[in-house]
Amino acid sequence: RSKKNKTHIFLPHLVASMEDVEETYIMVKPDGVQRGLVGEMISRFEKKGFKLTGLKLFQCPQELAEEHYKDLKSKSFFPKLISYITSGPVVCMAWEGVGVVASARKLIGATNPLQAEPGTIRGDLAVQTGRNVIHGSDSPDNGKREIALWFKEGEVCQWTSAQASWLME
Ligand code: ADP
Repeated sequence: RSKKNKTHIFLPHLVASMEDVEETYIMVKPDGVQRGLVGEMISRFEKKGFKLTGLKLFQCPQELAEEHYKDLKSKSFFPKLISYITSGPVVCMAWEGVGVVASARKLIGATNPLQAEPGTIRGDLAVQTGRNVIHGSDSPDNGKREIALWFKEGEVCQWTSAQASWLME
């Protein structure tokens, strides 16, 4: 077999599954960074088989936190939430994969860590809603919106994972 044929052997499978591919915005919150849990959280998404397309440590300005959580503006905890999210650096991530939005929410677990199942990120690593260590987009549309909000053009990287054909049939 020629070298050229080998590099193209799995391409039809990848093309066939492209339409189901989603993207989601995942963020390690300041408590997760301070507690040294960044690697642990990234590892869970990597091991599951999702593809990292954006990653940065970032001090979130007040206006961006307010824009990100604008749907919660009327809630009594909103000021506390904004000061929490801006209290230290966060780790911004874009992840890509088939069904990644709902699957990431399952990996993350319930908003209240005491109600989150053991085995989930919040279930294993957190105790309070106001310190629940991680964010994940709740819909494919919000995934796109939030990635555009938190990343500048050129910061999200498209690449082909060498694992793809071993993860997807
Ligand atoms: P999720 O992050 O699970 O999608 P929500 O969108 O309902 O949850 O809320 C966004 C974030 O606001 C939560 O992750 C949490 O940090 C904070 N939050 C929600 N409810 C409360 C609350 N009752 N008290 C303090 N913080 C809250």
